[in-house]
Amino acid sequence: MNVRSLKKLHFLIASGPTREPLDPVRFISNYSTGVMGKYLAQAAKKRGHAVQWVQCPQDAQTALELHKKLGALLRTSDVLIMAAAVCDVRPAELRASKIKKDDLKNISFVKNPDILAELSKKKKKNQIFIGFGLESQNLFKNGAEKLRKKGLELIVLQKVRKNQTPFGDKSIEAFLLYKDKDKPLRRFGQIHKKKLAEYLIREAERLDTCKN
Ligand code: C5P
Repeated sequence: MNVRSLKKLHFLIASGPTREPLDPVRFISNYSTGVMGKYLAQAAKKRGHAVQWVQCPQDAQTALELHKKLGALLRTSDVLIMAAAVCDVRPAELRASKIKKDDLKNISFVKNPDILAELSKKKKKNQIFIGFGLESQNLFKNGAEKLRKKGLELIVLQKVRKNQTPFGDKSIEAFLLYKDKDKPLRRFGQIHKKKLAEYLIREAERLDTCKN
């Protein structure tokens, strides 16, 4: 389909790492760089779509903030692409003053909400959800479980390998697993994130056409 005859979609894209503060000077986070989100936003815009890009931690610092923000923006979106690296836990308590070194070992954590799983409860019939999954083992079994639990049409799976970081501006090995059982698993031996983003935007367009 060329760009001119394309239906304009509203993409909601979340990317980057959440930060979960412990006290005024410390937080826990992860190595995500947000580069996948940048390429997704660029690719969607290039195809003429409307893009709402929520970059963590700038636009939403914590998982709770991200959840709230996406919840508010979801209603007017056709496609949610959740590339944010959400911290699974947050400190149970945010201290108002700097924690003394000796007390750091006593920090306790609580689980953050699974944002996709929560948002999928409010998902409208024609909305498309795309998520990402990083696994050290049982890539496809765990991927299929996430696809179901998080209400996704498509999940991008990546295997975490020893001495190989999946983060940053680079090529990766990726698998696309679909909710539609007729659609076979797609493997990219090595694909640059920019190219993967372009492919995913076209897949979102195709999934949207299939739904209407
Ligand atoms: O469960 P896991 O963290 O492996 O799932 C990854 C996918 O779920 C990603 O798309 C990520 O953005 C999303 N996620 C979420 N809420 C969380 C953790 C991850 O929406 N608390």
